[in-house]
Amino acid sequence: METHEINLRFLNYFEGHGHTRVPSASLILDDPTLLFVNAGMVQFKPYFLGEVPPPYPRATSVQKCVRTGDIDEVGKTTRHNTFFQMAGNFSFGDYFKEGAITRAWELITTSQADGGFGFDPSRIWVTVYENDSEAAGLWREIAGIPSERIQARDGRDNYWDMGVPGPGGPCSEIYYDRGPEYGREGGPVVDEDRYLEIWNLVFMQDVRGEASPKYGHPPIGELPKKNIDTGMGVERVAYLLQGVENVYETDLVRPVITRAEEFSGRRYGANHTDDVRFRVIADHARSGVLLITDGVTPGNEARGYVLRRLLRRIVRSVRLLGVHEPVLPEFAKVVRDAMSPSYPEIARDFDRISDVMRVEEETFLSTLTSGSKIFDLAAEETKRSGGDILAGDKAFQLHDTYGFPIDLTLEMAAEQGLSVDEDGFRTLMEEQRQRAKADAAARKSGHGDLSEYRKVLEQHGETEFLGYTDLQSTSR
Ligand code: ATP
Ligand code: MG
Ligand code: MG
Ligand code: MG
Repeated sequence: METHEINLRFLNYFEGHGHTRVPSASLILDDPTLLFVNAGMVQFKPYFLGEVPPPYPRATSVQKCVRTGDIDEVGKTTRHNTFFQMAGNFSFGDYFKEGAITRAWELITTSQADGGFGFDPSRIWVTVYENDSEAAGLWREIAGIPSERIQARDGRDNYWDMGVPGPGGPCSEIYYDRGPEYGREGGPVVDEDRYLEIWNLVFMQDVRGEASPKYGHPPIGELPKKNIDTGMGVERVAYLLQGVENVYETDLVRPVITRAEEFSGRRYGANHTDDVRFRVIADHARSGVLLITDGVTPGNEARGYVLRRLLRRIVRSVRLLGVHEPVLPEFAKVVRDAMSPSYPEIARDFDRISDVMRVEEETFLSTLTSGSKIFDLAAEETKRSGGDILAGDKAFQLHDTYGFPIDLTLEMAAEQGLSVDEDGFRTLMEEQRQRAKADAAARKSGHGDLSEYRKVLEQHGETEFLGYTDLQSTSR
Protein backbone atom coordinates (compact mmCIF):
# COMPACT_ATOMS: atom_id res chain seq x y z
CA MET A 1 0.00 0.00 0.00
CA GLU A 2 1.45 3.35 -1.03
CA THR A 3 2.13 5.97 1.61
CA HIS A 4 -0.39 8.27 -0.04
CA GLU A 5 -3.07 5.61 0.30
CA ILE A 6 -2.23 5.09 3.98
CA ASN A 7 -2.76 8.80 4.62
CA LEU A 8 -6.03 8.78 2.70
CA ARG A 9 -7.40 5.76 4.49
CA PHE A 10 -6.54 7.23 7.86
CA LEU A 11 -8.21 10.56 7.12
CA ASN A 12 -11.25 8.97 5.46
CA TYR A 13 -11.73 6.58 8.33
CA PHE A 14 -11.74 9.28 10.97
CA GLU A 15 -13.75 11.67 8.85
CA GLY A 16 -16.29 8.87 8.57
CA HIS A 17 -16.39 8.85 12.36
CA GLY A 18 -17.20 12.49 12.83
CA HIS A 19 -13.73 14.05 12.74
CA THR A 20 -13.00 17.30 10.92
CA ARG A 21 -10.14 16.89 8.46
CA VAL A 22 -7.49 19.54 9.18
CA PRO A 23 -4.49 20.10 6.87
CA SER A 24 -0.95 19.74 8.16
CA ALA A 25 0.44 22.87 9.79
CA SER A 26 3.81 24.25 8.67
CA LEU A 27 6.90 22.70 10.25
CA ILE A 28 7.53 26.14 11.70
CA LEU A 29 4.95 27.35 14.16
CA ASP A 30 5.10 30.28 16.46
CA ASP A 31 5.76 28.18 19.54
CA PRO A 32 8.66 29.24 21.76
CA THR A 33 9.07 25.75 23.19
CA LEU A 34 9.66 24.07 19.86
CA LEU A 35 12.30 24.24 17.17
CA PHE A 36 10.11 22.36 14.72
CA VAL A 37 6.66 20.85 14.85
CA ASN A 38 7.31 17.34 16.13
CA ALA A 39 3.82 15.91 16.63
CA GLY A 40 0.30 16.17 15.27
CA MET A 41 -1.04 17.77 18.44
CA VAL A 42 1.12 20.88 18.23
CA GLN A 43 -1.29 22.88 16.09
CA PHE A 44 -4.14 21.95 18.46
CA LYS A 45 -2.32 22.94 21.66
CA PRO A 46 -4.49 26.00 22.35
CA TYR A 47 -7.59 23.76 22.37
CA PHE A 48 -6.00 21.24 24.69
CA LEU A 49 -4.82 24.01 27.00
CA GLY A 50 -8.26 25.60 27.02
CA GLU A 51 -6.87 28.89 25.68
CA VAL A 52 -9.17 28.84 22.66
CA PRO A 53 -12.50 27.00 22.40
CA PRO A 54 -12.09 24.19 19.84
CA PRO A 55 -14.05 24.89 16.64
CA TYR A 56 -14.87 21.17 16.40
CA PRO A 57 -15.08 18.40 18.99
CA ARG A 58 -13.00 15.96 16.91
CA ALA A 59 -10.24 16.42 14.37
CA THR A 60 -7.95 14.33 12.19
CA SER A 61 -4.76 15.28 10.36
CA VAL A 62 -1.55 14.03 8.80
CA GLN A 63 1.10 16.34 10.19
CA LYS A 64 4.58 16.99 8.80
CA CYS A 65 7.04 16.43 11.64
CA VAL A 66 10.75 16.96 12.17
CA ARG A 67 12.57 15.43 15.13
CA THR A 68 16.17 16.49 15.17
CA GLY A 69 16.72 14.55 18.38
CA ASP A 70 16.47 11.41 16.27
CA ILE A 71 19.24 12.46 13.86
CA ASP A 72 21.83 10.04 15.21
CA GLU A 73 19.42 7.13 14.88
CA VAL A 74 18.85 7.76 11.20
CA GLY A 75 19.95 4.90 8.99
CA LYS A 76 20.97 2.80 11.99
CA THR A 77 17.55 1.85 13.36
CA THR A 78 14.78 0.75 11.01
CA ARG A 79 12.33 3.32 12.27
CA HIS A 80 13.69 6.84 12.72
CA ASN A 81 13.41 9.59 10.15
CA THR A 82 14.29 13.20 10.83
CA PHE A 83 11.23 14.16 8.73
CA PHE A 84 8.16 11.95 8.96
CA GLN A 85 4.39 12.17 8.78
CA MET A 86 2.26 11.63 11.85
CA ALA A 87 -1.37 10.70 11.30
CA GLY A 88 -3.57 11.55 14.25
CA ASN A 89 -7.06 11.70 15.65
CA PHE A 90 -7.98 14.17 18.35
CA SER A 91 -10.87 14.56 20.76
CA PHE A 92 -11.37 17.84 22.58
CA GLY A 93 -13.46 16.88 25.59
CA ASP A 94 -15.45 14.48 23.43
CA TYR A 95 -14.75 10.70 23.32
CA PHE A 96 -12.08 9.27 25.60
CA LYS A 97 -10.16 6.02 26.16
CA GLU A 98 -12.82 3.65 24.96
CA GLY A 99 -13.39 5.58 21.74
CA ALA A 100 -9.67 5.95 21.03
CA ILE A 101 -8.94 2.25 21.53
CA THR A 102 -12.01 1.14 19.55
CA ARG A 103 -11.11 3.33 16.57
CA ALA A 104 -7.39 2.50 16.48
CA TRP A 105 -8.01 -1.20 16.79
CA GLU A 106 -10.67 -1.20 14.08
CA LEU A 107 -8.55 0.75 11.60
CA ILE A 108 -5.42 -1.37 11.94
CA THR A 109 -7.16 -4.75 11.95
CA THR A 110 -9.93 -4.22 9.37
CA SER A 111 -8.92 -5.96 6.15
CA GLN A 112 -7.41 -3.90 3.36
CA ALA A 113 -10.32 -4.89 1.12
CA ASP A 114 -12.64 -3.23 3.63
CA GLY A 115 -10.63 -0.02 3.89
CA GLY A 116 -8.36 -0.82 6.84
CA PHE A 117 -4.66 -1.65 7.15
CA GLY A 118 -5.20 -5.37 7.61
CA PHE A 119 -2.66 -6.09 10.37
CA ASP A 120 -2.85 -9.58 11.83
CA PRO A 121 -4.43 -9.05 15.30
CA SER A 122 -2.35 -11.84 16.82
CA ARG A 123 0.81 -9.83 16.11
CA ILE A 124 -0.30 -6.71 17.94
CA TRP A 125 1.13 -5.89 21.38
CA VAL A 126 0.31 -2.84 23.47
CA THR A 127 1.86 -1.02 26.39
CA VAL A 128 -0.04 0.90 29.06
CA TYR A 129 0.99 3.20 31.89
CA GLU A 130 1.75 1.21 35.03
CA ASN A 131 -1.41 1.97 37.01
CA ASP A 132 -3.76 2.45 34.06
CA SER A 133 -5.79 -0.72 34.62
CA GLU A 134 -8.69 0.96 32.81
CA ALA A 135 -6.75 1.02 29.53
CA ALA A 136 -5.49 -2.53 30.00
CA GLY A 137 -9.08 -3.66 30.62
CA LEU A 138 -10.33 -1.90 27.50
CA TRP A 139 -7.64 -3.54 25.36
CA ARG A 140 -8.77 -6.93 26.63
CA GLU A 141 -12.48 -6.25 26.18
CA ILE A 142 -12.56 -4.29 22.96
CA ALA A 143 -9.65 -5.85 21.11
CA GLY A 144 -9.49 -9.21 22.82
CA ILE A 145 -5.76 -8.80 23.37
CA PRO A 146 -4.63 -11.34 25.98
CA SER A 147 -2.92 -10.04 29.11
CA GLU A 148 0.45 -11.51 27.99
CA ARG A 149 0.53 -9.01 25.13
CA ILE A 150 -0.33 -5.99 27.29
CA GLN A 151 2.78 -4.67 29.00
CA ALA A 152 3.00 -2.01 31.70
CA ARG A 153 5.62 0.71 31.62
CA ASP A 154 6.42 3.45 34.05
CA GLY A 155 6.09 7.20 33.63
CA ARG A 156 9.36 7.65 31.77
CA ASP A 157 7.96 5.79 28.77
CA ASN A 158 4.20 5.90 29.11
CA TYR A 159 3.25 9.20 30.66
CA TRP A 160 2.89 12.27 28.51
CA ASP A 161 3.09 15.93 29.47
CA MET A 162 4.43 19.13 27.99
CA GLY A 163 7.29 19.60 30.40
CA VAL A 164 5.41 22.38 32.20
CA PRO A 165 2.52 22.37 34.68
CA GLY A 166 -0.72 21.70 32.80
CA PRO A 167 -2.44 18.79 31.11
CA GLY A 168 -0.88 15.35 31.16
CA GLY A 169 -1.91 11.76 31.00
CA PRO A 170 -1.04 8.13 30.47
CA CYS A 171 -0.14 6.76 27.03
CA SER A 172 -0.79 3.48 25.41
CA GLU A 173 1.48 2.45 22.55
CA ILE A 174 0.61 -0.06 19.83
CA TYR A 175 3.36 -2.35 18.54
CA TYR A 176 3.60 -4.82 15.68
CA ASP A 177 5.60 -8.01 16.10
CA ARG A 178 7.80 -8.36 13.02
CA GLY A 179 8.68 -11.93 13.93
CA PRO A 180 11.49 -13.97 15.48
CA GLU A 181 13.96 -13.23 12.67
CA TYR A 182 14.02 -9.58 13.85
CA GLY A 183 14.93 -10.02 17.49
CA ARG A 184 14.22 -11.34 20.91
CA GLU A 185 10.95 -12.77 22.19
CA GLY A 186 9.12 -10.94 24.98
CA GLY A 187 7.32 -7.86 23.67
CA PRO A 188 8.29 -4.22 23.33
CA VAL A 189 9.77 -3.94 26.83
CA VAL A 190 12.39 -6.45 25.66
CA ASP A 191 13.05 -5.49 22.04
CA GLU A 192 11.85 -2.40 20.15
CA ASP A 193 13.35 -3.47 16.85
CA ARG A 194 11.42 -6.67 16.61
CA TYR A 195 8.33 -5.06 18.17
CA LEU A 196 7.85 -1.90 16.17
CA GLU A 197 5.92 0.99 17.72
CA ILE A 198 3.38 2.18 15.17
CA TRP A 199 0.88 4.26 17.11
CA ASN A 200 0.75 6.14 20.38
CA LEU A 201 -2.53 7.01 22.14
CA VAL A 202 -2.41 9.73 24.77
CA PHE A 203 -5.23 9.94 27.29
CA MET A 204 -5.14 13.49 28.57
CA GLN A 205 -6.88 13.27 31.90
CA ASP A 206 -4.69 14.86 34.58
CA VAL A 207 -3.64 18.24 35.76
CA ARG A 208 -0.02 18.03 36.73
CA GLY A 209 1.93 20.46 38.82
CA GLU A 210 5.64 21.23 38.91
CA ALA A 211 6.56 17.60 39.45
CA SER A 212 5.42 15.01 36.97
CA PRO A 213 4.37 11.37 37.11
CA LYS A 214 7.30 10.98 34.70
CA TYR A 215 9.44 11.26 37.81
CA GLY A 216 7.17 9.43 40.18
CA HIS A 217 5.01 12.32 41.41
CA PRO A 218 1.23 11.91 41.23
CA PRO A 219 -0.84 14.45 39.30
CA ILE A 220 -2.49 17.23 41.32
CA GLY A 221 -5.96 16.92 39.84
CA GLU A 222 -8.23 15.81 37.03
CA LEU A 223 -8.95 17.75 33.88
CA PRO A 224 -12.57 18.94 33.72
CA LYS A 225 -12.68 17.86 30.08
CA LYS A 226 -10.66 14.86 29.04
CA ASN A 227 -8.96 14.79 25.66
CA ILE A 228 -7.49 12.32 23.20
CA ASP A 229 -4.30 12.91 21.23
CA THR A 230 -2.92 10.13 19.05
CA GLY A 231 -0.05 9.80 16.60
CA MET A 232 0.51 7.02 14.09
CA GLY A 233 3.83 6.87 12.25
CA VAL A 234 2.90 6.81 8.56
CA GLU A 235 6.37 5.73 7.35
CA ARG A 236 6.42 2.89 9.88
CA VAL A 237 3.04 1.58 8.79
CA ALA A 238 4.20 2.02 5.19
CA TYR A 239 7.30 -0.06 5.63
CA LEU A 240 5.34 -2.90 7.20
CA LEU A 241 2.63 -2.81 4.53
CA GLN A 242 5.13 -2.48 1.69
CA GLY A 243 7.11 -5.52 2.82
CA VAL A 244 10.40 -3.61 3.01
CA GLU A 245 12.91 -3.56 5.85
CA ASN A 246 12.83 -0.01 7.14
CA VAL A 247 11.37 3.49 6.73
CA TYR A 248 14.08 4.49 4.21
CA GLU A 249 12.99 1.89 1.69
CA THR A 250 9.38 3.05 1.49
CA ASP A 251 7.94 4.39 -1.75
CA LEU A 252 8.51 8.08 -0.97
CA VAL A 253 12.04 7.79 0.42
CA ARG A 254 13.69 5.02 -1.57
CA PRO A 255 13.86 6.98 -4.89
CA VAL A 256 16.64 9.15 -3.45
CA ILE A 257 18.63 6.01 -2.63
CA THR A 258 18.21 4.93 -6.24
CA ARG A 259 19.47 8.30 -7.47
CA ALA A 260 22.48 8.05 -5.13
CA GLU A 261 23.19 4.58 -6.50
CA GLU A 262 23.27 6.04 -10.00
CA PHE A 263 25.60 8.84 -8.95
CA SER A 264 28.01 6.59 -7.09
CA GLY A 265 27.90 3.42 -9.12
CA ARG A 266 27.61 1.60 -5.79
CA ARG A 267 24.72 -0.66 -4.92
CA TYR A 268 22.45 -0.28 -1.90
CA GLY A 269 22.47 -3.55 0.05
CA ALA A 270 26.07 -4.40 -0.74
CA ASN A 271 27.60 -3.45 2.60
CA HIS A 272 26.40 -2.03 5.89
CA THR A 273 28.59 1.08 6.01
CA ASP A 274 27.47 2.27 2.60
CA ASP A 275 23.85 1.36 3.35
CA VAL A 276 23.79 3.67 6.36
CA ARG A 277 25.15 6.46 4.12
CA PHE A 278 22.50 5.80 1.48
CA ARG A 279 19.77 5.98 4.13
CA VAL A 280 21.16 9.14 5.69
CA ILE A 281 21.23 10.77 2.25
CA ALA A 282 17.64 9.79 1.49
CA ASP A 283 16.33 10.84 4.87
CA HIS A 284 18.16 14.15 5.07
CA ALA A 285 17.38 15.13 1.47
CA ARG A 286 13.70 14.86 2.25
CA SER A 287 13.96 16.80 5.53
CA GLY A 288 16.07 19.44 3.81
CA VAL A 289 13.53 20.02 1.05
CA LEU A 290 10.58 20.10 3.43
CA LEU A 291 12.31 22.52 5.81
CA ILE A 292 13.31 24.90 3.03
CA THR A 293 9.77 24.72 1.68
CA ASP A 294 8.50 25.96 5.04
CA GLY A 295 10.91 28.89 5.04
CA VAL A 296 14.09 27.74 6.80
CA THR A 297 17.41 28.83 5.28
CA PRO A 298 20.80 27.39 6.20
CA GLY A 299 22.65 29.39 8.83
CA ASN A 300 24.70 29.16 11.98
CA GLU A 301 21.91 29.47 14.50
CA ALA A 302 18.99 27.42 15.65
CA ARG A 303 16.79 26.20 12.82
CA GLY A 304 19.18 27.31 10.14
CA TYR A 305 21.96 25.34 11.74
CA VAL A 306 19.90 22.18 11.86
CA LEU A 307 19.16 22.54 8.16
CA ARG A 308 22.82 23.25 7.42
CA ARG A 309 23.88 20.18 9.36
CA LEU A 310 21.41 18.00 7.45
CA LEU A 311 22.53 19.30 4.06
CA ARG A 312 26.24 19.05 4.86
CA ARG A 313 25.78 15.55 6.14
CA ILE A 314 24.34 14.61 2.73
CA VAL A 315 27.26 16.14 0.87
CA ARG A 316 29.74 14.40 3.12
CA SER A 317 27.96 11.03 2.88
CA VAL A 318 27.91 11.31 -0.89
CA ARG A 319 31.64 11.99 -0.97
CA LEU A 320 32.22 8.95 1.19
CA LEU A 321 30.36 7.02 -1.52
CA GLY A 322 32.96 8.33 -3.94
CA VAL A 323 30.94 11.13 -5.60
CA HIS A 324 32.59 14.55 -5.88
CA GLU A 325 30.18 16.42 -8.14
CA PRO A 326 27.30 18.59 -6.83
CA VAL A 327 24.25 16.52 -5.94
CA LEU A 328 21.80 18.47 -3.80
CA PRO A 329 19.64 20.00 -6.56
CA GLU A 330 19.40 16.55 -8.15
CA PHE A 331 18.24 14.96 -4.93
CA ALA A 332 15.84 17.84 -4.44
CA LYS A 333 14.15 16.97 -7.73
CA VAL A 334 13.67 13.39 -6.66
CA VAL A 335 12.15 14.52 -3.36
CA ARG A 336 9.90 16.96 -5.21
CA ASP A 337 8.58 14.24 -7.49
CA ALA A 338 7.86 11.93 -4.57
CA MET A 339 6.43 14.44 -2.12
CA SER A 340 4.64 17.15 -4.05
CA PRO A 341 1.48 15.10 -4.73
CA SER A 342 0.90 15.42 -0.94
CA TYR A 343 2.60 18.79 -0.51
CA PRO A 344 2.09 20.82 -3.72
CA GLU A 345 3.91 23.80 -2.19
CA ILE A 346 7.17 21.95 -2.95
CA ALA A 347 6.53 21.97 -6.70
CA ARG A 348 5.22 25.54 -6.58
CA ASP A 349 8.31 26.88 -4.89
CA PHE A 350 10.82 24.50 -6.37
CA ASP A 351 13.14 26.99 -8.07
CA ARG A 352 13.81 28.72 -4.79
CA ILE A 353 14.23 25.43 -2.88
CA SER A 354 16.65 24.12 -5.44
CA ASP A 355 18.64 27.36 -5.40
CA VAL A 356 18.98 27.34 -1.62
CA MET A 357 20.34 23.82 -1.85
CA ARG A 358 22.71 24.66 -4.68
CA VAL A 359 24.14 27.66 -2.84
CA GLU A 360 24.62 25.72 0.38
CA GLU A 361 26.38 22.93 -1.46
CA GLU A 362 28.68 25.37 -3.28
CA THR A 363 29.49 27.13 -0.03
CA PHE A 364 30.26 23.89 1.72
CA LEU A 365 32.32 22.49 -1.14
CA SER A 366 34.50 25.59 -1.24
CA THR A 367 34.99 25.60 2.54
CA LEU A 368 35.68 21.91 2.28
CA THR A 369 38.52 22.67 -0.10
CA SER A 370 40.09 25.40 2.05
CA GLY A 371 39.34 23.48 5.26
CA SER A 372 41.03 20.41 3.85
CA LYS A 373 44.21 22.46 3.36
CA ILE A 374 44.10 23.55 7.01
CA PHE A 375 43.46 19.98 7.99
CA ASP A 376 46.39 18.64 5.96
CA LEU A 377 48.74 21.19 7.51
CA ALA A 378 47.57 20.32 11.01
CA ALA A 379 47.87 16.61 10.34
CA GLU A 380 51.39 17.04 8.97
CA GLU A 381 52.43 19.11 11.96
CA THR A 382 51.00 16.56 14.39
CA LYS A 383 52.92 13.74 12.76
CA ARG A 384 56.13 15.74 12.46
CA SER A 385 56.12 16.42 16.18
CA GLY A 386 55.77 12.67 16.74
CA GLY A 387 52.14 12.84 17.91
CA ASP A 388 49.13 10.89 16.75
CA ILE A 389 46.35 13.05 18.20
CA LEU A 390 45.04 16.06 16.33
CA ALA A 391 44.60 18.97 18.74
CA GLY A 392 41.09 19.88 19.92
CA ASP A 393 41.52 23.51 18.91
CA LYS A 394 42.27 22.44 15.31
CA ALA A 395 39.08 20.39 15.20
CA PHE A 396 37.25 23.37 16.66
CA GLN A 397 38.74 25.77 14.12
CA LEU A 398 37.69 23.45 11.31
CA HIS A 399 34.20 23.37 12.73
CA ASP A 400 33.93 27.04 13.52
CA THR A 401 35.59 28.57 10.48
CA TYR A 402 35.02 25.94 7.82
CA GLY A 403 31.81 24.34 9.01
CA PHE A 404 33.40 20.89 9.31
CA PRO A 405 31.13 18.62 11.31
CA ILE A 406 33.26 16.80 13.90
CA ASP A 407 32.56 13.42 12.32
CA LEU A 408 34.13 14.69 9.09
CA THR A 409 37.30 15.66 10.96
CA LEU A 410 37.32 12.31 12.74
CA GLU A 411 36.99 10.44 9.48
CA MET A 412 39.73 12.44 7.75
CA ALA A 413 42.02 12.02 10.75
CA ALA A 414 41.45 8.27 10.78
CA GLU A 415 42.46 8.12 7.13
CA GLN A 416 45.82 9.58 8.19
CA GLY A 417 46.18 7.22 11.13
CA LEU A 418 45.40 9.98 13.63
CA SER A 419 42.84 10.36 16.37
CA VAL A 420 41.34 13.65 17.56
CA ASP A 421 41.29 15.24 21.01
CA GLU A 422 37.50 15.10 21.19
CA ASP A 423 37.35 16.21 24.82
CA GLY A 424 39.30 19.34 23.97
CA PHE A 425 37.01 19.94 21.00
CA ARG A 426 33.89 19.55 23.10
CA THR A 427 35.17 21.91 25.78
CA LEU A 428 35.68 24.62 23.16
CA MET A 429 32.27 23.94 21.67
CA GLU A 430 30.65 24.25 25.07
CA GLU A 431 32.41 27.55 25.71
CA GLN A 432 31.16 28.82 22.40
CA ARG A 433 27.65 27.64 23.16
CA GLN A 434 27.68 29.55 26.42
CA ARG A 435 28.85 32.68 24.61
CA ALA A 436 26.13 32.30 22.00
CA LYS A 437 23.51 31.83 24.69
CA ALA A 438 24.60 35.01 26.40
CA ASP A 439 24.52 36.81 23.05
CA ALA A 440 21.07 35.56 22.17
CA ALA A 441 19.74 36.51 25.56
CA ALA A 442 21.16 40.00 25.12
CA ARG A 443 19.25 40.39 21.89
CA LYS A 444 15.50 40.63 21.89
CA SER A 445 15.28 39.76 18.25
CA GLY A 446 18.07 38.86 15.93
CA HIS A 447 19.21 38.61 12.39
CA GLY A 448 19.81 35.19 10.96
CA ASP A 449 22.81 34.41 8.85
CA LEU A 450 21.12 35.28 5.61
CA SER A 451 24.05 36.91 3.87
CA GLU A 452 24.78 34.04 1.50
CA TYR A 453 21.13 33.84 0.60
CA ARG A 454 20.59 37.47 -0.25
CA LYS A 455 20.83 36.74 -3.93
CA VAL A 456 18.39 33.88 -3.73
CA LEU A 457 16.02 36.01 -1.74
CA GLU A 458 16.29 38.90 -4.13
CA GLN A 459 15.62 36.61 -7.03
CA HIS A 460 12.65 34.84 -5.48
CA GLY A 461 11.24 37.43 -3.14
CA GLU A 462 11.24 37.40 0.62
CA THR A 463 10.60 34.28 2.61
CA GLU A 464 9.29 34.54 6.10
CA PHE A 465 12.10 35.39 8.51
CA LEU A 466 12.26 33.04 11.42
CA GLY A 467 14.51 34.68 13.95
CA TYR A 468 15.76 33.16 17.14
CA THR A 469 13.82 30.92 19.36
CA ASP A 470 14.74 29.26 22.59
CA LEU A 471 14.68 25.71 21.69
CA GLN A 472 13.55 22.71 23.47
CA SER A 473 11.92 19.71 22.04
CA THR A 474 9.02 18.25 23.94
CA SER A 475 8.54 14.95 22.20
CA ARG A 476 6.62 12.28 23.97
P1 ATP B 1 10.23 5.69 19.33
O1 ATP B 1 10.07 5.17 20.73
O2 ATP B 1 10.23 4.59 18.30
O3 ATP B 1 11.36 6.66 19.16
P2 ATP B 1 8.29 7.66 20.05
O4 ATP B 1 7.67 6.97 21.23
O5 ATP B 1 9.36 8.64 20.30
O6 ATP B 1 8.89 6.53 19.02
P3 ATP B 1 5.85 9.17 19.65
O7 ATP B 1 6.35 10.42 20.24
O8 ATP B 1 4.97 8.31 20.46
O9 ATP B 1 7.15 8.30 19.15
O10 ATP B 1 5.20 9.53 18.24
C1 ATP B 1 4.02 8.91 17.74
C2 ATP B 1 4.36 7.99 16.57
O11 ATP B 1 5.13 8.65 15.56
C3 ATP B 1 5.17 6.79 16.97
O12 ATP B 1 4.35 5.75 17.46
C4 ATP B 1 5.85 6.41 15.67
O13 ATP B 1 5.02 5.56 14.90
C5 ATP B 1 6.02 7.74 14.95
N1 ATP B 1 7.40 8.26 15.05
C6 ATP B 1 7.99 8.82 16.13
N2 ATP B 1 9.24 9.22 15.88
C7 ATP B 1 9.47 8.91 14.57
C8 ATP B 1 10.58 9.09 13.69
N3 ATP B 1 11.71 9.67 14.10
N4 ATP B 1 10.47 8.66 12.41
C9 ATP B 1 9.33 8.06 11.98
N5 ATP B 1 8.24 7.88 12.75
C10 ATP B 1 8.29 8.29 14.03
MG1 MG C 1 11.40 8.62 19.96
MG1 MG D 1 8.32 5.07 22.05
MG1 MG E 1 5.56 6.68 21.59
